[in-house]
Amino acid sequence: MLVMKFGGASVKDADSIRNVAEIISQFAQDPLLIVVSASGKITNELEQLAFYAKDGKEKASLQKLEEIQHFHKQIVEDLFETGGEAVLAKIEPFFRKIDRIVNGILMLEEFPPRTYDRIVSCGELLSTTIVAAYLQSIGKDCHWIDARKLIKTDASYKRANVIWSLTELNIREQVSPLLKAGTIAVTQGFIGSTTEDHTTTLGREGSDYTAAIFANCLDAREMMVWKDVRGILNADPRVVPDAIKIDKMSYEEAVEMTFYGAQVIHPKTIKPIFQKQIPLLVKCFLDVNEVGTRISDKTNDDPIPSYITKHGQALLHIKHKDFSFMDEKLMQGIFNHLYKAGVKLNLIQNSAVSLMLCVDEGPVTQDFISRLLDSFEVEKKENVKLFTVLNYEFSNLEKARGALMVQQEGNKLFYVK
Ligand code: ASP
Ligand code: MG
Repeated sequence: MLVMKFGGASVKDADSIRNVAEIISQFAQDPLLIVVSASGKITNELEQLAFYAKDGKEKASLQKLEEIQHFHKQIVEDLFETGGEAVLAKIEPFFRKIDRIVNGILMLEEFPPRTYDRIVSCGELLSTTIVAAYLQSIGKDCHWIDARKLIKTDASYKRANVIWSLTELNIREQVSPLLKAGTIAVTQGFIGSTTEDHTTTLGREGSDYTAAIFANCLDAREMMVWKDVRGILNADPRVVPDAIKIDKMSYEEAVEMTFYGAQVIHPKTIKPIFQKQIPLLVKCFLDVNEVGTRISDKTNDDPIPSYITKHGQALLHIKHKDFSFMDEKLMQGIFNHLYKAGVKLNLIQNSAVSLMLCVDEGPVTQDFISRLLDSFEVEKKENVKLFTVLNYEFSNLEKARGALMVQQEGNKLFYVK
């Protein structure tokens, strides 16, 4: 069987959804599970709406809801020649639900992460309702599935952790029989629910991860992610206009690229497919015949360097005040401190008496530093970038000159500037 994931850009309007249906038809000789993101930029819009409500801006949030409603109605009107009313009736309850939640935020003047998840999850519920109805309208045997009934998570709202045992059982019991009967299953990316059935989300851009969860649990032959780019490029095309498309990439290369900031697929996507050795194809929905990028256990025969930049970094240079060795015990204390404060560590380097840490800048607060200052001297360089070159060549070393920190590991080069 195949798992296919369609991102927001691929379902942003009626024509795009027709195109998605065509792609699905082309692959329908295999049993299919389809994961769909919210249309266009709707998740951002829903976020905005919720923030307005949180700030007590009732008018602005209701106006936003109006816009979101209009956007989806327009898609339905453009997409369905007949039967549009029935689809409008199906999506209507979601808008009423959002309206109720907004009123709750305004009244209680509180906006906990749990409420955030209840609101933003509506994007995927809406898009999949429309896509599934369209597939049915063109004669496909298609079933809409509520991912919240399958993907079970803990209660870490906004970035919930999957409870694999329950999720796997649900998917095997509820999805496998459908697929066996030849039904195309359509479900939402990004969302799940707790064991008490409270809606959760898996973190922004999490739909790729959802597809990987399904691929793992269903032992998919292949997973496909359909995007508006030709595949994975070896550099950000906004920075390097002549970036080259990579045909083949190993799981490890893909993990390194996504972890270090390449925004091609969600970083959590690779592990579930690696565990089952399921190849992942990144394909372009604008040109089905383009081969895309294949992520599997095989790397390119002739690997080319890939350039990844992680922005928003801070470099911490830490020494003990009394010139003690930077030994395991001291490091353990520092790492515990990072862990408790939720500071994400991206690269480390140690020497006899010092430790250098390249971390995400956001959580590095004054309080975080102050606590270290009890025992350590801390120098902090703000607003630096972490550059990664996979399959680096000799000439790339030139770029690392003068960097605050440089590291080489096998075919990887890291430097902070
Ligand atoms: N719609 C969600 C987001 O924009 C999830 C996704 O698209 O992957 O973050
Ligand atoms: Mg998206």
